[in-house]
Amino acid sequence: MTKIRTRYAPSPTGKMHVGNLRSALYEFLIAKHEGGDFMLRIEDTDQERFVEGATEIIYRTLEKTGLVHDEGPDKDGGYGPYVQSERMKTGIYMKYAKELIDKGEAYYCFCDKERLATLKTEIVEGKEITVYDKHCLSLSKEEIEANLAAGKPFVIRQNNPTEGTTTFHDELYGDITVENSELDDMILIKSDGYPTYNFANVVDDHTMNITHVVRGNEYLSSSPKYVRLYEAFGWQVPVYVHLPLITDENHKKLSKRSGHSSFEDLLEQGFVTEAIVNYIALLGWSPEDNREIFSLQELIEKFDYHRISKSPAVFDIVKLRWMNGEYLKAMDFDAFYEMAEPYLKAALTRDLDLKKIAAMVKTRIEVFPDIADQVDFFEKLPEYDTAMYTHKKMKTTAVSSLEVLTEILPVLEAQEDYSNDALYQTLLTYVEQKGCKNGYVMWPIRTALSGKQMTPAGATEIMEVLGKEESLKRIRKGIELLSAAL
Ligand code: GLU
Repeated sequence: MTKIRTRYAPSPTGKMHVGNLRSALYEFLIAKHEGGDFMLRIEDTDQERFVEGATEIIYRTLEKTGLVHDEGPDKDGGYGPYVQSERMKTGIYMKYAKELIDKGEAYYCFCDKERLATLKTEIVEGKEITVYDKHCLSLSKEEIEANLAAGKPFVIRQNNPTEGTTTFHDELYGDITVENSELDDMILIKSDGYPTYNFANVVDDHTMNITHVVRGNEYLSSSPKYVRLYEAFGWQVPVYVHLPLITDENHKKLSKRSGHSSFEDLLEQGFVTEAIVNYIALLGWSPEDNREIFSLQELIEKFDYHRISKSPAVFDIVKLRWMNGEYLKAMDFDAFYEMAEPYLKAALTRDLDLKKIAAMVKTRIEVFPDIADQVDFFEKLPEYDTAMYTHKKMKTTAVSSLEVLTEILPVLEAQEDYSNDALYQTLLTYVEQKGCKNGYVMWPIRTALSGKQMTPAGATEIMEVLGKEESLKRIRKGIELLSAAL
């Protein structure tokens, strides 16, 4: 069996879109699942779409996500160069285009703009394209040579048959057959000498021994033309896997407007890389069981591309948030703290033990920006309604709360040790003396300390972090508010 070779072939045109990252991930997984090679090729022949810095984003993302390439511009594996603009300088595309001309599968076209403007156009995938009428196919050898000698600008076009059909196979979509009359004679080499993306892609996949091509299904409609090229050369067509569309919650194509369409957006929104990768793996693929949490290594083991689905994959930010929360829970504390610290520092300016607070919130947040809402009361006691002291289940009322706070205040004033354990013992002793349930005492104290219904920790843990002075201040404030309300 030949070794599986896949490639991620991004065009450096900007951010790492979720769809691009999914292609890279699936290419990586398909190769690694079978012990094959995963290659990076930069497709930069479309100079107009080139964006400064985009190549760096590609490298950074692959490194951060752990999609380590075996070969690429920075790792020669014997199939270089790995950047199309550099490949072009070797003359490879022109050489193959000429081979097709010799076979009658391509031809020089000298038509100028004025003539092309008179031709029929068609809308293909939202873009207007000229349907070329094969005018230059009938030029004689002499005419062609004279034009070339005179330096007349030219393009090289694919010579597609006008009759018959072309069939190709996609692993998800099955056999697809199109009428050859629908295939336009697409340009292979542009007038500036650069190959078109379509041509370079085919030449490169073949010459770089790529066995599996995984890409978005927006390429499905161009595939017959690619297949025609393979056939014209007599090359073996790779295995095609065209991935389903990724949509937003409204079933529209995931776009910038959703606010979370790129890897960078998601990082900025406080998601962790591992959760993003895990979630993206499930955008179109699912394992046999309904398991959802996978490390990259586990994905490699489980990833069978035959289980990719054709139906559109909905990017569900709520689900990603849940998944991210699971990753935060499972994360090693030091790693968590390192990432949480900037968010804690932004929310808290008082001198507090941030590590203790981080430990409290670790299992309660889904993304780092959730920290702000969880910890705000440490910074400043919010204004709160004394109705909060009344809690049915805890059997507390404003009256009982005022009594508890008034009784516990002198005890806490006398207490020196403000560690969680010592404070807890003190409160337990008080609970026993009173012969009540824990909540009857804890609820009013926690309310006075936080002014919130929900806190990331209990009364004594909060007191430990706030310290004696601030804790007493807040309990006195609670007494004051309750007294005024009664
Ligand atoms: N350069 C193309 C892109 O970035 C690659 C498509 C393919 O994988 O063939 O979309």
